[in-house]
Amino acid sequence: MLKNKKNEKNTSSCSCSHNSTNTNKNSLTCCSNNNDICNQEPYVQIEKNKNDTNEHYTNEHYNNGTIENDKKTIRNGIEKTTTKKKKDIKIIVCGCVPQAEQNMDIFENVSLVGVNNIDKIVEVVEYVINGYNVKYLKQSKKMTSLNFPKIRKNKFIEIININNGCLGNCTYCKTKFARGDLASYQINEIIERIQYVCAQENIKEIWMTSEDTGAYGIDINTNIIKLLQKVLSEIEHTDVMIRLGMTNPPYILKHIKDMCNLLKHKNMYEFIHIPVQSGSNNVLKNMNREYVIEDFIYLIDNLRKNIPNITISTDIICGFPYETEEDHNQTINLLKKYEFPILNISQFYPRRGTVAYNMKKINTKIVKLRSRDVTETFLSYNNNYNFLNGTTQKILFTEVSSKSDHIIGHTKQYVKVLLQNKANENIHLLGTCVNCKIVSTH
Ligand code: SF4
Repeated sequence: MLKNKKNEKNTSSCSCSHNSTNTNKNSLTCCSNNNDICNQEPYVQIEKNKNDTNEHYTNEHYNNGTIENDKKTIRNGIEKTTTKKKKDIKIIVCGCVPQAEQNMDIFENVSLVGVNNIDKIVEVVEYVINGYNVKYLKQSKKMTSLNFPKIRKNKFIEIININNGCLGNCTYCKTKFARGDLASYQINEIIERIQYVCAQENIKEIWMTSEDTGAYGIDINTNIIKLLQKVLSEIEHTDVMIRLGMTNPPYILKHIKDMCNLLKHKNMYEFIHIPVQSGSNNVLKNMNREYVIEDFIYLIDNLRKNIPNITISTDIICGFPYETEEDHNQTINLLKKYEFPILNISQFYPRRGTVAYNMKKINTKIVKLRSRDVTETFLSYNNNYNFLNGTTQKILFTEVSSKSDHIIGHTKQYVKVLLQNKANENIHLLGTCVNCKIVSTH
């Protein structure tokens, strides 16, 4: 048996990775952070081909935080850190939140580093050690080097931000305030980074992310297809896998045929995250999403026709201003028809400074009811992963489960797999690809 994954969360900004259930009411889906959160871990049992060891597998996806959530976390963190006992502690806050919310009262006595200034961190630390509070928040077109030192959460996974910003102007989005317009890294910079991490740092999986990967390159006269072709030609002699991050419908639509071919490449996960947000054209128009539902349907139909087992993740915002019962029903019908195995569900929450903030809100009770309706629709799906039952799949193992005695890997469709690891019997498989037989799905 295999369960689907439902994600309910805050929508609005930035990026990361872990399975979780996130049910809350603040919304404002932002592409860059709106990622896939798994709140129920679907899995199947598998067994290794060679020695018949029983194994499990399950899906895993990443959850980018939201500015609203991050604001709370940062506020709590600063308040806890600045108690009387710890008054000598120096604080520097970096990233999207200080960039977009620099006037927050809590930032008055701390140092801030915005999204375009992270390369100034050494300078900032020196100032702070010497007793100064500084604010480096200048927006600039200059891109931070991809070779900037980093500490990885997973030593086998490299996350490369292929572009900053986007070409959208969604009426609910605050990410745009922090990230600005599209600015893409040159293909050769990305390739050099990939060559380096694969050769020098034993990287086995690369996540290519951004607010909208489909828009990559438009500002520098190239595109996502040319980038992926070059990347795949670099790694095709290896087992390194590429996972493409979120893409909005408008730009990827132009590349649908090429994208299908690339997703079938042996070094690419057959996984794609395309946030639809609503099944109604009226709502999409109010959101200023720059596509109609027919575009999204065309995209999904083509992806599934060309790659029948592809994992498609999407997002829904419930109760957007002016959404009618009929609009909501169109969303429900879309979900019933396509049964997306991964769904990020948000309740609309107005964010100060956005266009949607001034729109007439829907009654909170109705928003909650619609959100529940979307959740129940999602939970009514059947097992999406039956096609894996009894099959042999190549699994790339990259982490140890923190919840059970298993190591975790993924199929080509990026479906999560758990393999028995009692007394670390299979720990040596981390960072390798292993042919496994799926013995059951859950
Ligand atoms: S404005 Fe850009 S970042 Fe914000 S939701 Fe729209 S596409 Fe995503």
